Amino acid sequence: MRFSHRMDNLAPYLFAGIEQKIADKRKSGVDVISLGIGDPDVPTPDYIVEEMQRQVADGRNHQYPSNRGLTEYAEAAAAFYQRRFGVTLDPEREFMALLGAKEGLAHICMALLDVGDLALVPDPGYPVYAGGSIMMGAEVKYLELRRENGFLPDLDELSEEEARRAKVLFISYPNNPTAAVVQDGFFERVVAFAKEYEIAVVHDNPYSEITYDGYVAPSFLAAPGAKEVGVELFSFSKPFNMTGWRTGFAVGNHEILEHLWRLKTNMDSGMFDALQRTSAFILNGPWDSVHEMCRVYQRRRDLLAEALVSVGIEAPKPEATIYMWIPVPSGYTSAGFSEHVLEQAGVVVTPGPGYGPAGEGFVRLSLTAPDHRIAEAVERIERSLRL
Ligand SMILES: *Cc1c(COP(=O)(O)O)cnc(C)c1O
Repeated sequence: MRFSHRMDNLAPYLFAGIEQKIADKRKSGVDVISLGIGDPDVPTPDYIVEEMQRQVADGRNHQYPSNRGLTEYAEAAAAFYQRRFGVTLDPEREFMALLGAKEGLAHICMALLDVGDLALVPDPGYPVYAGGSIMMGAEVKYLELRRENGFLPDLDELSEEEARRAKVLFISYPNNPTAAVVQDGFFERVVAFAKEYEIAVVHDNPYSEITYDGYVAPSFLAAPGAKEVGVELFSFSKPFNMTGWRTGFAVGNHEILEHLWRLKTNMDSGMFDALQRTSAFILNGPWDSVHEMCRVYQRRRDLLAEALVSVGIEAPKPEATIYMWIPVPSGYTSAGFSEHVLEQAGVVVTPGPGYGPAGEGFVRLSLTAPDHRIAEAVERIERSLRL
């Protein structure tokens, strides 16, 4: 059979390979603790499940859904952005329902990029920024996120020619995988850069609600002029333990959203109206469950950080996200350390280079395992390092 050239440079998704390794280990009898993929272990809160049950039973939700998004969903998102971020949105023109942020990212690549175009992608970064760009035949220019720079990209590193060629810039704070938060002035700098070079900005924002120690994450759209250059993607997956539900939305620049809408009307026919109404209900409702999850993750973060430090591993405590980005102990590569803890401790961590070449020297640990499993994982890692 003959397949498209598009597929030639597209590797299987990062976690497809890791899932296979876990399955093989478990089959051979190992009690694997996975701190690999960032998939919340706690189920979706009952009040959300109950609302979805009501919506599923309602016949008005059973036909083809609204593709752009139901008015009540768009209005709930606009009200949330106003209340939470001080950002005013036009629900009719500046909102688009998404089947999760991942879907939105891949389709935004399709709407923006042609073969040979240049996409600016943070390194390390969520794999879909590069994957979606490569799928479109675009060229990826990695922007290295350095620790000494607070894991922010340095836009001045780009040559004039690269900046002119670039069509899209992906950013994401609070950040996966580095768990870094944005620094004052960075979003404003991005808006100025994007305006100067006519670059579309995609701010991937699935972690703004998962923060610790009193930190409050801003929206990219709160930067003056941001709506003229970019969109922001919000997801229910992480804050509400809803990774399996596939719900999120994009807000911001009308022109980008109009193209995304036109593309998606030809592809997916929209999101189940029952889920759109439930998503609106979540946005309008009390957020106690999110605050509770922040307490859970903060406790796990502290447990993991203290345990790692006690065995001599450097473990900076993040202010947000469900991850810790850990420099590997000296003498190890990222892959070597990941392999070592899987083979000797039955613990899965994600090697940094899975997020781009600059991830070398780091591993990502996810906080999505119960406390006692995290404690056990660290004990096993400690034992394995003493061998
Ligand atoms: C989890 C994650 C996503 C995917 O979110 P979905 O809404 O589940 O598709 C997107 N971007 C980043 C940075 C993530 O960590």
